[in-house]
Amino acid sequence: MHLVQLARRAELALRLTETWVRRPPVPTRLVLDVTRRCNLRCAACRTWEAPVAHELSVAEIAAILDQLPRLCWLDVTGGEPFLRPDAGALFDAIADRCRALRVLHFPTNGWFEERVVAACASVRARRPDLDLIVTVSVDGPEDLHDRMRGRVGAYRRAIATLRRLRALPGVQVYVGTTITADNQDQLPALAQALARELPELHPREHHLNWLQVSAHFFRNEGAVAPDPPADLVRQHITRRGLPRGLVDLMELVFLINRDFYGRGEPSGVPCQALRSAAFISPEGQLYPCHIYDRPLGDLRRVPFAELWRSEPVLKARDDIDRLACGGCFTPCEAYPALAGAPLRALRQTAARALRLAREALEGPSPSPAASCPADPTDASAPRLSRPPSAAPELA
Ligand code: SF4
Ligand code: SF4
Repeated sequence: MHLVQLARRAELALRLTETWVRRPPVPTRLVLDVTRRCNLRCAACRTWEAPVAHELSVAEIAAILDQLPRLCWLDVTGGEPFLRPDAGALFDAIADRCRALRVLHFPTNGWFEERVVAACASVRARRPDLDLIVTVSVDGPEDLHDRMRGRVGAYRRAIATLRRLRALPGVQVYVGTTITADNQDQLPALAQALARELPELHPREHHLNWLQVSAHFFRNEGAVAPDPPADLVRQHITRRGLPRGLVDLMELVFLINRDFYGRGEPSGVPCQALRSAAFISPEGQLYPCHIYDRPLGDLRRVPFAELWRSEPVLKARDDIDRLACGGCFTPCEAYPALAGAPLRALRQTAARALRLAREALEGPSPSPAASCPADPTDASAPRLSRPPSAAPELA
């Protein structure tokens, strides 16, 4: 890795670990939901049903981002972000305004190939220093994907966008699969389909998410969490092979802990929502994250720093520490959570990796979490019972 790149990674790591010593004066990581609109009709997501009104304009978003001078990691999500006619201008504004940014990630359903590719090329040209990461959603082989996404042609368009993006220098491209009851048994068939369509795609470039329930983001209260095969995560870990870099390593650490979370054990690391991370709705409401349905204030009216230290935000932060939010271990929130408690995360992951190795030889081991005290920040604490969930990578 080039020295400059190494220095940037080190800077990013420093920012993410800042919460070891203090709560930053404004967040360093943000999930920015830019639209509830979507051209697809996934069974597991009803964001598209929301009336479209009062979306933040590009100028309003830029004004909010200007208040976050230490922002180093931004996820832009939706809905389908590229349904916004001003999506190109929005990404350009992010690239130009967020000078401290190191990671810019967005998910897309891949329908709007030209718009996605043009936005990436423009961001790349403006900010060659950024890690630009795009996740294109593919939930199954063609028929299944189109059925799950509610529109014929969704699969072919997603694959076409993946091909174009993978040919674009400087863009890290991933396939994202949301596991639901409809596709949890179809991952081998999906892997075969992807191998045919994108022979160069390595399993390391394939991310798994889990169906999640969120009133304010997915508007899918009542959705039923899947009950995937017990060895699904372990098979994915095996397919991915040994990590090749920091991101691979983080993903491996996440997957090992996700496997145990799926068995009912705690995440073992404190969530960083409202500590270093936050979520902003398309209308400018601040939330802790994409799951916890707790609006905290209107960023059109209140400056970010003022809201960040307000009583409702600090109270919500305390409630998150007590897992009043229900708790979760989403891929999106897990990375900052793991980085925020690295020693605990490494200790726990090493112990769990050993358990996995032992189980491979001897069969499943009993969960040590069953009778532990209820300290929510303790690795051995029982978690509350929110269904297993995924990153806000729906698109
Ligand atoms: S634990 Fe999950 S639901 Fe709770 S605040 Fe963190 S990300 Fe949100
Ligand atoms: S999951 Fe994504 S593609 Fe599907 S309806 Fe929701 S926002 Fe649209």
